[in-house]
Order: sequence, then structure tokens, then C-alpha cells
Amino acid sequence: MKKLLLVFSVALLVFSCQNDESDLEVTPAAFSIATKRSCATQDMLEIQLKNDPTLAQRLQEMELKNAKAMASGKLINGVLEIPVVFNVLYSTAAENVSLAQLQSQIDVLNADFQGTNSDYNSSNAYNSVRGALNVKFVIDQVIRKATTRTVWYSEDEFMKSASTGITATSPTTKLNYWVVSNLRRKSDNSQLLGYGKFPGTTTAALDGIVCGNYCTGTNGLAAAPYNLGRTATHEVGHWMNLRHIWGDANCGSDLVTDTPSHDAPNYGVPAAGLRSTCTGTPLEMYMNYMDYTDDKGMYMFSNGQASRMAAIFSSSGSRSSFR
Ligand SMILES: [Zn+2]
Repeated sequence: MKKLLLVFSVALLVFSCQNDESDLEVTPAAFSIATKRSCATQDMLEIQLKNDPTLAQRLQEMELKNAKAMASGKLINGVLEIPVVFNVLYSTAAENVSLAQLQSQIDVLNADFQGTNSDYNSSNAYNSVRGALNVKFVIDQVIRKATTRTVWYSEDEFMKSASTGITATSPTTKLNYWVVSNLRRKSDNSQLLGYGKFPGTTTAALDGIVCGNYCTGTNGLAAAPYNLGRTATHEVGHWMNLRHIWGDANCGSDLVTDTPSHDAPNYGVPAAGLRSTCTGTPLEMYMNYMDYTDDKGMYMFSNGQASRMAAIFSSSGSRSSFR
């Protein structure tokens, strides 16, 4: 029976290919909730590195500066307030996300970065290296714009241009957060939950983060398993210079010393005690915000990640203009 169904499906596919090519254009890009987490931050950096031959050198210089700032211990003095500008693009009334949904995202960012999230004390082997940051996110303004666009590709960045989207507001002193529906990677048309820009890697006009409307906040359009606001926690982590915990390579480096080597991203909610296949088979820190698990599976930054983030707000840091 299965074989018969397969033959039938293949026949149907061949038939539809021959008869309606426009369907092929539309169907793969139709909106649905992503089956697993995917973020385009690193892909976008790779594109930027290719287009700008001086970027790699500048990033290396930034790493040296950050290391100096971390060694000095002089990072953030007091609470650093980060004004957030929400840029909401919608093609239906339902996609015009409510202020309550946006505020719920701000609440999650504050809890997750300050270490006051309700799952912060979930017991795990890495409790002793949990880290928090003295930052407070506040809504600065919400800018809304109706659009006929029903799919947004990371590589195009159309959401950030005046003609097709909303231009960034004061990106050197405010975190711009674009909320869109049906975010995708153009190269393979795969679904994305979001992406952020690493500090010092982009023009101000493109700086900030982009997240899907169903993985923003905890109410309204927020949908399981991405309805605890952790997509933005992850993307703001990138915006504050954090890499993926597996270093975007098999047993790669995330440039943080107190996180273990991961062989690959984790999805869903991994079973307790999962070990990596990297040297020494360390216990993986799959509960870290910079992994790819479902929202309920991630609930901590490490100390090393927290000081790496704080370093970019130091007086010599690439986001010192936020001080
Ligand atoms: Zn990411």
C-alpha cells in the first residue's frame, strides 16, 4: 500500500510539474510553522565575509579588544537600558501583532538575560556556570506597516528598506527588531525562525534582529514549540556577539571557554545526560540559549557568554554607543 501511495505521489508530482510551474513557486514558500529551529545569523556573516575582504581582520581586532575589556573587568557599570524598536510588517490584520505580544517578548528578554526566568533553576550539571547580564530591555516604539509581501528572505533584507519594509530607527543607540511572517532562507527556501547581526559586521541600516511573528513573545500569534520567546533571546545573543554553541562546525569553537564542545546543534528537548562525540565526550550544554532546542529546552547563558556579551558594551566595545 505504501509503495502504491508513493508511486501515486510521484506521478502527481510529475503531473503538477508539467502542468503548473507557478504552483511550484508558491507552494514551497507557503507559510507554516517550522518543524525545527533554524537561524541564518552565521549564513549572513559568511555572505558578509565574502563581500567584504577586510571584515575578517576587523573581527579579529574586535576579539582582541573584547579580550582586553574582559580581562580588565570593567564592562557594564550599573544597569544598561536597551531601547527596543519593533518594526512590524503584516499582510493580514491577524499578522499585525498586538502590543501585548510585543511586551511579552520584552518580559522574556529581561528575564532570560537577567537570569530571573522561571526555569533558571532547573537542575543541571551546568548550574554553577550560569551567567546573567545587567541589562534592561524597554519598548522604545512600535512601527507598523502593511505590505503585500507574504514571504521574506534573509538574504534580501527587504524588511529593512524604505520601499519594501521599515528602515531602522537609530540603530547605534536602539535595538531594531523586525517582526515578519514566513521568514525563509533564499538559497534553499528553508524556513527560518530568525537571524541577528553580530556587532561590527554590518552597516547600521541592517543592524538588529529579525524574527517570525509566531516565535515572538508568549501570546497572540506565538505558537508551540516556539512560544516562550526564546528565539529572540537567541538572536539578541548573536546581536551581543554570541556564536552558536557548536561553533557552526563539527566540534567547532563558540569562542567561549566555559561551554563544552558540541558536535552539532540539538533539536527538540534532548534527553538529560546527552554527551557530545567531541574530544573527551563532554556533557552537552543543550539547555543553552545558543543551541537549537525548542523554547522549553533552553534556559541559560554561561558566565563566559555573559562576559563576552558585556564586553561589547564596554567603553572600547563595538556597541559602546548604547552606554
Ligand atoms: Zn542562531
